[in-house]
Amino acid sequence: MKHLVIANWKMNPMSLKEAISLAKEEDKKDVVIIPPTPYIPALQTVVKKGSLGVQDVDPINAVNGPYTSALSPAFLKKFGVRYTIIGHSEARANLGESDAIIAHKIKSALDAGIIPILCVGETKEVRDMGYTKAREFVLDQLERGLDLIKGGVGKIIIAYEPVWAISTNNEGVADDSEGAGEMIQNIKAHLSSSMKLWAQYKIIGVYGGSVGVNNVGVFLKERSIDGFLVGSASLRSKEFLRIVEIVNG
Ligand code: PEP
Repeated sequence: MKHLVIANWKMNPMSLKEAISLAKEEDKKDVVIIPPTPYIPALQTVVKKGSLGVQDVDPINAVNGPYTSALSPAFLKKFGVRYTIIGHSEARANLGESDAIIAHKIKSALDAGIIPILCVGETKEVRDMGYTKAREFVLDQLERGLDLIKGGVGKIIIAYEPVWAISTNNEGVADDSEGAGEMIQNIKAHLSSSMKLWAQYKIIGVYGGSVGVNNVGVFLKERSIDGFLVGSASLRSKEFLRIVEIVNG
Protein backbone atom coordinates (compact mmCIF):
# COMPACT_ATOMS: atom_id res chain seq x y z
CA MET A 1 0.00 0.00 0.00
CA LYS A 2 1.23 3.50 -0.80
CA HIS A 3 1.69 5.83 2.16
CA LEU A 4 -0.29 9.04 2.45
CA VAL A 5 1.76 12.24 2.74
CA ILE A 6 -0.17 15.18 4.14
CA ALA A 7 1.20 18.71 3.70
CA ASN A 8 0.04 21.03 6.48
CA TRP A 9 1.03 24.52 5.36
CA LYS A 10 -0.43 26.10 8.53
CA MET A 11 -0.82 29.90 8.09
CA ASN A 12 1.57 30.08 5.10
CA PRO A 13 2.53 31.19 2.48
CA MET A 14 1.81 34.92 2.44
CA SER A 15 0.46 35.28 -1.10
CA LEU A 16 -1.88 33.45 -3.43
CA LYS A 17 0.84 33.47 -6.10
CA GLU A 18 3.19 31.54 -3.82
CA ALA A 19 0.39 29.18 -2.79
CA ILE A 20 -0.40 28.34 -6.41
CA SER A 21 3.19 27.67 -7.31
CA LEU A 22 3.76 25.53 -4.17
CA ALA A 23 0.60 23.54 -4.90
CA LYS A 24 1.63 22.98 -8.52
CA GLU A 25 4.96 21.57 -7.35
CA GLU A 26 3.55 19.40 -4.58
CA ASP A 27 0.54 18.04 -6.45
CA LYS A 28 1.29 14.30 -6.53
CA LYS A 29 -0.69 11.12 -6.16
CA ASP A 30 -1.16 10.06 -2.50
CA VAL A 31 -0.45 13.63 -1.35
CA VAL A 32 -2.98 15.77 0.52
CA ILE A 33 -2.34 19.50 0.30
CA ILE A 34 -3.73 21.47 3.23
CA PRO A 35 -3.38 25.23 2.65
CA PRO A 36 -5.00 28.05 4.62
CA THR A 37 -8.72 27.99 3.72
CA PRO A 38 -8.80 31.30 1.74
CA TYR A 39 -6.58 29.65 -0.91
CA ILE A 40 -8.93 26.69 -1.39
CA PRO A 41 -11.08 28.05 -4.28
CA ALA A 42 -7.99 28.96 -6.33
CA LEU A 43 -6.25 25.66 -5.62
CA GLN A 44 -9.29 23.59 -6.57
CA THR A 45 -8.22 23.70 -10.21
CA VAL A 46 -4.50 23.34 -9.46
CA VAL A 47 -4.55 20.21 -7.30
CA LYS A 48 -5.38 17.38 -9.68
CA LYS A 49 -3.29 14.31 -8.88
CA GLY A 50 -3.46 14.77 -5.11
CA SER A 51 -6.29 15.92 -2.86
CA LEU A 52 -7.20 19.11 -1.05
CA GLY A 53 -7.83 19.44 2.65
CA VAL A 54 -8.53 22.15 5.22
CA GLN A 55 -6.97 22.77 8.64
CA ASP A 56 -10.29 22.90 10.47
CA VAL A 57 -14.06 22.77 10.04
CA ASP A 58 -16.91 24.03 12.16
CA PRO A 59 -19.17 21.49 13.83
CA ILE A 60 -22.18 22.53 11.76
CA ASN A 61 -24.29 19.90 10.11
CA ALA A 62 -25.66 21.96 7.24
CA VAL A 63 -24.68 22.74 3.66
CA ASN A 64 -25.57 26.43 3.95
CA GLY A 65 -27.80 28.77 5.94
CA PRO A 66 -27.81 31.27 8.80
CA TYR A 67 -24.54 30.21 10.41
CA THR A 68 -22.56 33.44 10.69
CA SER A 69 -18.81 32.81 10.76
CA ALA A 70 -19.13 29.07 10.18
CA LEU A 71 -17.59 26.87 7.51
CA SER A 72 -19.29 23.50 7.63
CA PRO A 73 -17.70 20.38 6.14
CA ALA A 74 -20.62 20.06 3.71
CA PHE A 75 -20.08 23.65 2.52
CA LEU A 76 -16.32 23.18 2.12
CA LYS A 77 -16.91 20.00 0.17
CA LYS A 78 -18.40 22.13 -2.61
CA PHE A 79 -14.93 23.66 -3.04
CA GLY A 80 -13.27 20.31 -3.64
CA VAL A 81 -12.18 19.70 -0.04
CA ARG A 82 -11.79 15.97 0.72
CA TYR A 83 -9.93 15.97 4.05
CA THR A 84 -9.90 18.04 7.21
CA ILE A 85 -7.48 18.23 10.09
CA ILE A 86 -9.31 18.25 13.42
CA GLY A 87 -7.85 18.80 16.88
CA HIS A 88 -4.36 19.89 15.86
CA SER A 89 -2.34 20.65 19.00
CA GLU A 90 -1.88 24.26 17.84
CA ALA A 91 -5.67 24.70 17.60
CA ARG A 92 -6.16 22.97 20.95
CA ALA A 93 -3.60 25.31 22.56
CA ASN A 94 -4.22 28.60 20.73
CA LEU A 95 -7.96 28.45 20.08
CA GLY A 96 -8.99 26.57 23.21
CA GLU A 97 -10.48 23.73 21.19
CA SER A 98 -12.02 21.15 23.56
CA ASP A 99 -12.45 17.40 23.10
CA ALA A 100 -16.24 17.92 23.06
CA ILE A 101 -16.01 20.37 20.11
CA ILE A 102 -13.53 18.08 18.39
CA ALA A 103 -15.98 15.16 18.70
CA HIS A 104 -18.71 17.26 17.02
CA LYS A 105 -16.35 18.29 14.23
CA ILE A 106 -15.41 14.66 13.58
CA LYS A 107 -19.07 13.70 13.36
CA SER A 108 -20.06 16.53 11.05
CA ALA A 109 -17.05 15.86 8.78
CA LEU A 110 -17.93 12.17 8.45
CA ASP A 111 -21.62 12.98 7.92
CA ALA A 112 -20.61 15.29 5.06
CA GLY A 113 -18.30 12.72 3.48
CA ILE A 114 -15.09 14.54 4.39
CA ILE A 115 -12.27 12.40 5.79
CA PRO A 116 -11.23 13.65 9.24
CA ILE A 117 -7.58 13.66 10.28
CA LEU A 118 -7.84 13.57 14.07
CA CYS A 119 -4.64 14.77 15.72
CA VAL A 120 -3.69 13.29 19.06
CA GLY A 121 -0.45 13.54 21.00
CA GLU A 122 0.97 14.07 24.44
CA THR A 123 2.70 17.20 25.72
CA LYS A 124 6.28 17.23 26.97
CA GLU A 125 5.08 17.28 30.60
CA VAL A 126 3.08 14.10 30.04
CA ARG A 127 5.86 12.37 28.12
CA ASP A 128 8.29 13.16 30.93
CA MET A 129 6.07 11.04 33.19
CA GLY A 130 6.90 8.03 30.99
CA TYR A 131 5.60 6.15 27.97
CA THR A 132 2.73 4.47 29.83
CA LYS A 133 1.33 7.85 30.91
CA ALA A 134 1.76 9.16 27.36
CA ARG A 135 -0.16 6.19 25.98
CA GLU A 136 -3.00 6.70 28.50
CA PHE A 137 -3.15 10.38 27.54
CA VAL A 138 -3.26 9.67 23.80
CA LEU A 139 -5.86 6.89 24.06
CA ASP A 140 -8.00 9.15 26.22
CA GLN A 141 -7.82 11.94 23.61
CA LEU A 142 -8.72 9.38 20.98
CA GLU A 143 -11.76 8.12 22.91
CA ARG A 144 -13.04 11.64 23.52
CA GLY A 145 -12.49 12.76 19.94
CA LEU A 146 -14.33 9.77 18.52
CA ASP A 147 -17.04 9.80 21.16
CA LEU A 148 -19.95 10.66 18.86
CA ILE A 149 -19.30 8.31 15.96
CA LYS A 150 -19.24 4.87 17.54
CA GLY A 151 -20.97 2.28 15.41
CA GLY A 152 -20.88 4.46 12.29
CA VAL A 153 -19.09 3.95 9.02
CA GLY A 154 -16.34 5.77 7.09
CA LYS A 155 -12.64 6.43 6.78
CA ILE A 156 -10.73 8.13 9.59
CA ILE A 157 -7.11 9.17 9.77
CA ILE A 158 -5.51 9.34 13.19
CA ALA A 159 -2.40 11.50 13.24
CA TYR A 160 -0.14 10.77 16.18
CA GLU A 161 1.72 14.03 16.73
CA PRO A 162 3.62 14.26 20.03
CA VAL A 163 3.34 17.97 20.82
CA TRP A 164 6.99 18.24 21.83
CA ALA A 165 8.14 16.89 18.46
CA ILE A 166 6.23 19.43 16.34
CA SER A 167 8.04 22.23 14.49
CA THR A 168 11.52 21.56 15.78
CA ASN A 169 12.73 21.95 12.19
CA ASN A 170 13.99 18.42 12.22
CA GLU A 171 16.81 19.20 14.60
CA GLY A 172 16.87 15.88 16.35
CA VAL A 173 13.85 16.34 18.60
CA ALA A 174 11.50 14.23 16.48
CA ASP A 175 9.99 11.25 18.24
CA ASP A 176 12.01 8.08 18.13
CA SER A 177 10.59 5.96 15.32
CA GLU A 178 9.94 2.92 17.49
CA GLY A 179 8.02 5.00 20.01
CA ALA A 180 5.90 6.48 17.21
CA GLY A 181 5.30 3.10 15.59
CA GLU A 182 4.34 1.58 18.92
CA MET A 183 1.93 4.41 19.73
CA ILE A 184 0.18 4.09 16.37
CA GLN A 185 0.03 0.32 16.91
CA ASN A 186 -1.53 0.99 20.34
CA ILE A 187 -4.08 3.33 18.77
CA LYS A 188 -5.09 0.74 16.18
CA ALA A 189 -5.18 -2.07 18.78
CA HIS A 190 -7.32 0.08 21.06
CA LEU A 191 -9.83 0.70 18.29
CA SER A 192 -9.93 -2.87 17.09
CA SER A 193 -10.34 -4.25 20.62
CA SER A 194 -13.88 -2.86 20.53
CA MET A 195 -14.50 -4.26 17.06
CA LYS A 196 -18.24 -3.85 17.08
CA LEU A 197 -17.78 -0.10 17.35
CA TRP A 198 -15.05 0.30 14.79
CA ALA A 199 -15.38 -2.61 12.34
CA GLN A 200 -17.09 -0.38 9.77
CA TYR A 201 -14.29 2.17 9.76
CA LYS A 202 -11.11 2.15 7.76
CA ILE A 203 -8.51 3.48 10.21
CA ILE A 204 -5.30 4.98 8.87
CA GLY A 205 -2.49 5.91 11.26
CA VAL A 206 -0.02 8.62 10.32
CA TYR A 207 2.90 10.16 12.19
CA GLY A 208 3.65 13.88 12.42
CA GLY A 209 6.34 15.85 14.22
CA SER A 210 9.39 17.30 12.47
CA VAL A 211 9.35 14.78 9.65
CA GLY A 212 12.07 15.61 7.12
CA VAL A 213 14.30 13.97 4.53
CA ASN A 214 16.76 12.91 7.22
CA ASN A 215 14.37 10.92 9.38
CA VAL A 216 11.42 9.84 7.21
CA GLY A 217 13.20 6.65 6.12
CA VAL A 218 13.49 5.43 9.71
CA PHE A 219 9.82 6.10 10.46
CA LEU A 220 8.95 4.30 7.24
CA LYS A 221 10.34 1.06 8.66
CA GLU A 222 7.57 1.02 11.28
CA ARG A 223 4.85 -1.20 9.83
CA SER A 224 2.00 0.42 11.76
CA ILE A 225 2.71 3.84 10.18
CA ASP A 226 0.54 4.38 7.07
CA GLY A 227 1.72 7.88 6.23
CA PHE A 228 3.03 11.22 7.44
CA LEU A 229 1.74 14.65 8.38
CA VAL A 230 4.41 17.12 7.35
CA GLY A 231 4.37 20.72 8.57
CA SER A 232 7.45 22.94 8.14
CA ALA A 233 9.08 20.79 5.45
CA SER A 234 5.94 21.01 3.29
CA LEU A 235 6.70 24.70 2.73
CA ARG A 236 9.97 23.75 1.04
CA SER A 237 8.81 22.02 -2.11
CA LYS A 238 12.14 20.38 -2.97
CA GLU A 239 12.40 18.83 0.48
CA PHE A 240 8.75 17.85 0.46
CA LEU A 241 9.04 16.14 -2.92
CA ARG A 242 12.10 14.25 -1.73
CA ILE A 243 10.06 13.03 1.27
CA VAL A 244 7.29 11.88 -1.09
CA GLU A 245 9.88 10.11 -3.23
CA ILE A 246 11.46 8.34 -0.25
CA VAL A 247 8.03 7.31 1.02
CA ASN A 248 6.40 6.19 -2.21
CA GLY A 249 9.26 5.79 -4.68
C1 PEP B 1 2.29 19.74 12.25
O1 PEP B 1 2.19 20.88 12.69
O2 PEP B 1 1.30 19.04 12.05
C2 PEP B 1 3.63 19.24 11.98
C3 PEP B 1 3.80 17.96 11.83
O3 PEP B 1 4.61 20.19 11.88
P1 PEP B 1 6.18 19.94 11.69
O4 PEP B 1 6.37 18.95 10.58
O5 PEP B 1 6.74 21.27 11.37
O6 PEP B 1 6.66 19.40 12.99
